[in-house]
Amino acid sequence: MPPMISTDYIEVAVILPVNQTYVYAIPGTFRADACPGMRVLVPFGRRRVTGYILAEKKESGPYKTKDVLDLLDDHPLFPESDIAFFKWVSGYYIYPLGETIKAAMPAGLDCMDVSCAFVTVKGAKALEAGELPHEEARVLGLASAKEGISLKSLSRRDPAGAAVLRGLEKKDLVQVTAVLQTQTAGIKTEKFISLPRETPTLQIRMSAKRQKILAIVREAREVSLTSLKRHVPTAANLIKPLVEAGWLNVVNRRVFRDPLGEPVTPDTPPELTDEQAAVVKQIQARADVFSPCLLVGVTGSGKTEVYMRLVADAVAKGRGAIVLVPEIALISQTEGRFRARFGEKIAVIHSMLSQGERLDQWRKISLGKVNIVIGARSAIFAPIREIGIIIVDEEHDYSYKQESGLRYNARDLAVVRAKMHNCPVVLGSATPSVQSCRNVMLKKFFKLELTRRVNNQTLPEITLVDMKKYQGSSCYTDRIITPELGRAIRFCLEKGNQALIFLNRRGFSTFPVCASCGKTLGCPYCDVTMTLHKEADRYKCHLCGHLLISDIRCPDCGTGKIRNLGFGTEKIESMLKTLFPDARVARMDQDSTARKGSTLAILRQIRNRTVDIIVGTQMLAKGHDFPAITLVGVICADLSLSLPDFRASERTFQLLAQVAGRAGRGAEPGRVIMQTFNPDHFTIKAARNQDYLEFFNQETPFRKALMYPPFSRMIQLKISGKNADKTRDHARLAADILVRLNTLEPQAQILGPIEAAIQKISSRYRWQILIKGLYSENISRMVSAMVRDPAIQKVKSVSIAIDVDPYSLL
Ligand code: ADP
Ligand code: ZN
Repeated sequence: MPPMISTDYIEVAVILPVNQTYVYAIPGTFRADACPGMRVLVPFGRRRVTGYILAEKKESGPYKTKDVLDLLDDHPLFPESDIAFFKWVSGYYIYPLGETIKAAMPAGLDCMDVSCAFVTVKGAKALEAGELPHEEARVLGLASAKEGISLKSLSRRDPAGAAVLRGLEKKDLVQVTAVLQTQTAGIKTEKFISLPRETPTLQIRMSAKRQKILAIVREAREVSLTSLKRHVPTAANLIKPLVEAGWLNVVNRRVFRDPLGEPVTPDTPPELTDEQAAVVKQIQARADVFSPCLLVGVTGSGKTEVYMRLVADAVAKGRGAIVLVPEIALISQTEGRFRARFGEKIAVIHSMLSQGERLDQWRKISLGKVNIVIGARSAIFAPIREIGIIIVDEEHDYSYKQESGLRYNARDLAVVRAKMHNCPVVLGSATPSVQSCRNVMLKKFFKLELTRRVNNQTLPEITLVDMKKYQGSSCYTDRIITPELGRAIRFCLEKGNQALIFLNRRGFSTFPVCASCGKTLGCPYCDVTMTLHKEADRYKCHLCGHLLISDIRCPDCGTGKIRNLGFGTEKIESMLKTLFPDARVARMDQDSTARKGSTLAILRQIRNRTVDIIVGTQMLAKGHDFPAITLVGVICADLSLSLPDFRASERTFQLLAQVAGRAGRGAEPGRVIMQTFNPDHFTIKAARNQDYLEFFNQETPFRKALMYPPFSRMIQLKISGKNADKTRDHARLAADILVRLNTLEPQAQILGPIEAAIQKISSRYRWQILIKGLYSENISRMVSAMVRDPAIQKVKSVSIAIDVDPYSLL
């Protein structure tokens, strides 16, 4: 526990778009419980706002200070040592400090009603045994009420209660869990079985299984029904008569919510291959210094095993570890493997958790009860006090970039945070980003490689099929699922294997056109075409979600029927069902996984081989390990090539190489059929050869010539507003100010303002300014000065979002 506040004043970062911190007086009533990392409620102008305590202050400063109104936490949300990190993030991304910290914290703190303490099984036993010190027993007694006790009412009854409670929580005698106003009904309870005090007199039939249950309960004194079911799957039914006859007691207790769905069996670490051992050794040699490492390992080369060894090392030294993995689908797998190795020592942070669950995980970390954190991008902010290693798996993945609010890149922050903790950071990938490869060239990163698959399986053979050959074909299907791909699928199915068909575009028809006037059916609020979704029987806008009924007439001419051209995953699915009527076909994309739990359900189907052909978007391309997939079909490799984005080629290369890597991970070799209109494009060729260096060497001259990253630093300003003219004028004003500020040598390039490629989203008009320069400090200083300019600040109806190191230029 960090030291409590001992002075009269504190420095607070309020959650408001302001550029400085403020000093408040902290009344004696709160002082004993307050420390940096906790939230406070403070007056600000005529409002009351939430802020974070950064530090204690001896002096009030030149202005009259106001009093803190309330202390909102019983425990710091982050260690004091993280404040330097937050300040760095706030400065680099030009985002207010208080709002930066808020973005780093788990969502849901705001609507949090109360934290409640509940007595654990261990706590109940300790209370019963009567051996606890007086004050601990009293607090435990208060918390043993069925609904627990809120921390607020505890401190009201007992001023020292909070401190005692923290001690109890560390000893696992109580659990403190966030009870959200909206979620009180969702608190999980669990049945616990124990033996009664008196021996039962009523005799019942004792089957072998019932005897086994009794033996287990006798041994454990008390067990949860869940763990009992692990020994005797039918326990739930078997115990009912035992309870009725008085042989067993059942109580309902609240339990800590656990994100883990199914039990995982512990594994034993395999012996490392020579390559793995060499990699581990090299990183171990740098364990106590900041050492950024790019680990390039072909798909299936055993990177995850390497990560686990490094994490085990860090933990053995008493330090923590952060493991970042992209996207939920991957988490479902990586989490399982880490659980199998590290058991309950890990916390998991990802978007499939409910808010309450996320808060609980966060609390476990900040209390130091666990020190391995696995999660998606936001886990980079996990409140680990002393970090021994940070891993970023699939470092090239775009999901590490947050695209709203605090627009950070978790991969880049991993490097910054590792530097602050003096520890190694491992960026792993089979298709490393151009940025990271360049850092290796510049000797900022050192490179390690895993060149072979663990089971010595060869990489899949990739065949390119030129789609141009079939565009004249009278058979519509042949134009989309070429005869080559069709044959390969048939062959795969005949051998009893699974096929993965990839198309990075969802929906049924992606290009609805009026048959009479020829206009495309667009979204009324966005500057894009609608997509027909057959299952939903609606046209959907993929940007704002607007829906139109499917038998609509052309809104433009009012009479024409809509012809549904273009194809997405939904259409591919239905074509495959027609072509292969005996095959079981499933689809995995944003639409089919919208319901909670459906992603995992589809993945389970693939794993259990209850589907033969699985069609999907990039959700399916990443990181999964499905041994029965021997064929990967890419419907159209070029979809993302033509996007107006300097990373279009990189994105395409990575996606294709990744999806190809899904084939042949089991005993049988894999095959990939890649359909394309551009078989001679260097990106497609490099993907075919699965050679990231070939791609890197051909891509970098373009980037260099056009001064794109990694040969420059970029900031993009995204200017948007409801009024077209005002938005344009504001964008022009911002650009004028930037030009005036652009005095430092070497001068920055200011491109724009231009209208965004997608000119309107959700009725907001969009303009952009791109600033390119050799040094991030220079362009960052210009942008900070521009947004602070009174002329800019005055306009409230147009917003300027700052995107430092932007990914999406659309
Ligand atoms: P990557 O993360 O590089 O794609 P994985 O870590 O998923 O590769 O490894 C591929 C498979 O090989 C996994 O099933 C993993 O359990 C297994 N594996 C990894 N290392 C070893 C090893 N040293 N010995 C045996 N099997 C291993
Ligand atoms: Zn729309």
